[in-house]
Amino acid sequence: METAGTDFDGRQFKNPEEMWQEQVGDTHKKCQWYRDGVSYWEGVEATVDGVLGGYGRVNDADIKASEQFLKTLLSELFVDGGRNRHLVALDCGSGIGRVTQNLLIRYFNEVDLLEPVSHFLDAAHDSLVHENPTASDVHKATNFFCAPLQEFMPDAGRYDVIWIQWCIGHLPDDDFVSFFKRAKIGLKPGGYFVLKENTAKSGFVLDKEDRSITRSDLYLKELFGQCGLHLYKSKDQRGFPKELFGVKMYALTTDVPKVVSKSGRKVQANRPGVIK
Ligand code: SAH
Repeated sequence: METAGTDFDGRQFKNPEEMWQEQVGDTHKKCQWYRDGVSYWEGVEATVDGVLGGYGRVNDADIKASEQFLKTLLSELFVDGGRNRHLVALDCGSGIGRVTQNLLIRYFNEVDLLEPVSHFLDAAHDSLVHENPTASDVHKATNFFCAPLQEFMPDAGRYDVIWIQWCIGHLPDDDFVSFFKRAKIGLKPGGYFVLKENTAKSGFVLDKEDRSITRSDLYLKELFGQCGLHLYKSKDQRGFPKELFGVKMYALTTDVPKVVSKSGRKVQANRPGVIK
């Protein structure tokens, strides 16, 4: 891809290939990239403010917009909005379980969490299992997997929705693509991914401190194409402080989705097609 990028010191890269070659060009460098990424988060306190990089105050706006997006998807893609279905979600790079606790647990009967940093996952377990008076057999956090995305292999056909928020930037392009290809196996027929992520205005921005990159919308779409995913819908997050990156939500399906019509019949969506 011929799109230039930068790091936070203003250093320019001709294209992503040049940057990836330098950062993760051999096995040793790639191990170091992932080790440094996890170490960064191991030094962050297990609070909402911690996982949101000091911007705990955006939590409410984030959850509100995500809920709107999810509600639309559930009603468009599942008969009865999924009400007659045992709904299961996976929260990827879940941190302390902020998204599960504030959103997913209310809509899904079961939620699994996947997170490589153990003190975050422990905090998620404490709040979702030990300290949660509203936990019930019909809405519960079931599995807590302590693993990174690049190593995760889901059980086949377990999930209706795989939610990936603010963590995919830790994966270089090759692992991004292989993660989605493996994760697809974890989706039920008709299931989909929701990716919520920062977006760069163009190209990419490398963060050498936490070992992640912020990709542009175009860059992400190019990768979705390589994963064989269809972009069903996307939406911009609104109401965040101006100094932050723009944030987008993407709903991604493995096939051209059948949209549920008002009469409850499934009809073929006429847009959009495969991203090339
Ligand atoms: N999604 C959560 C947490 C965001 S903070 C939320 O929105 O509240 C970013 C998270 O990504 C941290 O919990 C961090 O530990 C996790 N992370 C870092 N590298 C990762 C990797 N390789 N795979 C999965 N998660 C990773």
